[in-house]
Amino acid sequence: MSSSTRSLKIGIIGFGPFAQFLAKTMIKQGHLINATSRSDYSEISGHLGVHFFRDMEEFMGLEHDVILICTSIMSLSEVVKSIPFHCLQRQTLFADVLSVKEHPKQVLLQEVPEDYDLVCTHPMFGPESGKCGWNNLTFMYERVRVRDEALCSSFLAIFECEGCKMLETTCEDHDRLAAESQFIAHTIGRVLSEMQIKNTPIDTKGFEKLVQVKESTENDSFDLYSGLFIHNRFAKQQMNSLESALQRVKGLLETRMNQQDRKKIS
Ligand code: NAP
Repeated sequence: MSSSTRSLKIGIIGFGPFAQFLAKTMIKQGHLINATSRSDYSEISGHLGVHFFRDMEEFMGLEHDVILICTSIMSLSEVVKSIPFHCLQRQTLFADVLSVKEHPKQVLLQEVPEDYDLVCTHPMFGPESGKCGWNNLTFMYERVRVRDEALCSSFLAIFECEGCKMLETTCEDHDRLAAESQFIAHTIGRVLSEMQIKNTPIDTKGFEKLVQVKESTENDSFDLYSGLFIHNRFAKQQMNSLESALQRVKGLLETRMNQQDRKKIS
């Protein structure tokens, strides 16, 4: 390993599907991973080579280089407020991977003691899109409060050396763009799921893609989707635009149909 890819001791808080997916690559790279979560993941952790701790105070005293927050968007405030920061033994970088960014930035700035560095990140991929590797997949980040540049670079190198497209931008810009893209994709997927669309013997390529969009959103928890809406201030506007666009498209068709009917009568 080069100095920017030195082996790190990483403590993960919230060991759900996405954290487990990240941990596999981190372990492959030679990092040491400890985890804690609301539920007991001792067994699955054992299989992955992760050390799992049920006791948060014991976990926080483990001298981590990085504490990576992987809880749901909806539970973030509650989880961060419950962290026993007084148990920290050394300089530690706090990072998060939530799919919204202004909300964790605000919560972490408020709750994490000033002495500790903060980087807010969003890997723009998941267990499905990243199952064959992370090459060319986007990794967004903002160095919110970074004094130990070397440690932060070592953490970012986890993604860089897998070939991710590294995008340094603000949490605000992330949320604006994510509302226009990721949130729309999730919403369309959820709508198609409500409609229970499924493959037919005469699928067009376009329809096949829609079924894929539906299936990929069904793999994500409703907690995640709710978080994309509730904790991204730009999402409400996008939801309204989508609703009014559907009405406009329907209106165009009705106008055309009425014109046809009038032609037939005259
Ligand atoms: P998720 O449903 O968004 O989050 C599951 C995690 O949140 C689990 O660790 C769960 O703990 C924890 N959690 C939920 N409610 C909690 C509560 N009340 N108190 C304490 N912990 C609670 O599923 P996910 O897909 O694993 O995503 C984790 C994070 O990564 C999210 O912030 C998400 O936005 C982000 N992310 C996900 C993806 C993706 O493709 N899935 C991609 C990029 C970023 P227990 O399991 O212990 O109950």
